[in-house]
Amino acid sequence: MEIQKELKAESDLKPLPDPSRLGFGIHFTDHMFLMDYKDSQGWHSPRIVPYGNFSLDPAAVVLHYGQAIFEGLKAYRGTDGHIRLFRPKENMKRMNRSAWRMCMPQIDEEMVMEAIRELVTVESRWVPDQHGTSLYIRPFIIATEAFLGVRPAKEYLFSIILCPVGAYYAEGFNPVKIFVTEKFVRAAKGGVGEAKTAGNYAASLMASEEAKELGFTQVLWLDAGERKYIEEVGTMNIFFMIDDVLVTPALSGSILPGITRDSVIHLAKSWGIQVEERAVSIDEIIEKAETGQLKESFGSGTAAVISPVGSLYYKGKTIEINHGQTGRLAHRLFEEITAIQYGDKEDTFGWTEIVK
Ligand SMILES: *Cc1c(COP(=O)(O)O)cnc(C)c1O
Repeated sequence: MEIQKELKAESDLKPLPDPSRLGFGIHFTDHMFLMDYKDSQGWHSPRIVPYGNFSLDPAAVVLHYGQAIFEGLKAYRGTDGHIRLFRPKENMKRMNRSAWRMCMPQIDEEMVMEAIRELVTVESRWVPDQHGTSLYIRPFIIATEAFLGVRPAKEYLFSIILCPVGAYYAEGFNPVKIFVTEKFVRAAKGGVGEAKTAGNYAASLMASEEAKELGFTQVLWLDAGERKYIEEVGTMNIFFMIDDVLVTPALSGSILPGITRDSVIHLAKSWGIQVEERAVSIDEIIEKAETGQLKESFGSGTAAVISPVGSLYYKGKTIEINHGQTGRLAHRLFEEITAIQYGDKEDTFGWTEIVK
């Protein structure tokens, strides 16, 4: 399928935002990618067009029943000037798993990879070059069929939008204070927690708001059944260094399988660190903190890469981790992953792909 291009005139291009004040998800580039789906035609009409509003029927299924999925990855401008993607094929695979779970049509992974490459190439002037900055890539699919009734839609829109984003740690690599929520859950086994689907994030808002009101940065989610086992932190996967073992909750069905999580596991193992993917209870973490065996904890995700956890607040008590300081492994992982992403270190795992 040939991607049609309708590009803006040079004189209509937006001015670039101030690279030192990019923030996250605020500025959008000049163009976007679109592609339509109809049951009778499959995916068709792939095109790059000027960024702008969609026209949707008020009865579009996505607006009422939430059939929507998305992905998130970044393009990094390296020290050598090349623009790289980090493990993009993993995002394509995960998007198809999310689509499957939400009864949405599968995408042609290679075709969508080509769409990402072409769009990023068209928008290459938007890839910022200050260290830590990047161009965030947001592919998503929504159900557009005009129909009220609960069944999978027969028409969809696939889109990719891009936004330049600032360094996550503009003020330094600071550990965050986490609120362990007992009242709310993110996802239950058998539900849609392992799909990157819009409703999961709407469902998480109340707990995050509560945590923020109490002065915490993020929420730690426990399992929906027993409120005992740790699942994720905010929209990140979580790791604990207990003695010399790196422990992370196993992918049990309600946890989003993060690509950064997988990269952390691969790197740690390659450094000779023992990694365990298993059930981790909040009680075990409290106990290991008290005995001094809990050395450090951090979250992992595309946006922050690694986010050190300084403390957990649970049942009226604060559990300090590593004296509220960034741990050694968190620091090493952050340095290693970002060095690979920016082409500063040899990519021995074959994780990066040069776009331009
Ligand atoms: C996207 C996401 C992650 C992290 O996934 P990455 O592929 O590492 O960016 C973790 N948890 C949730 C809930 C997410 O939505």
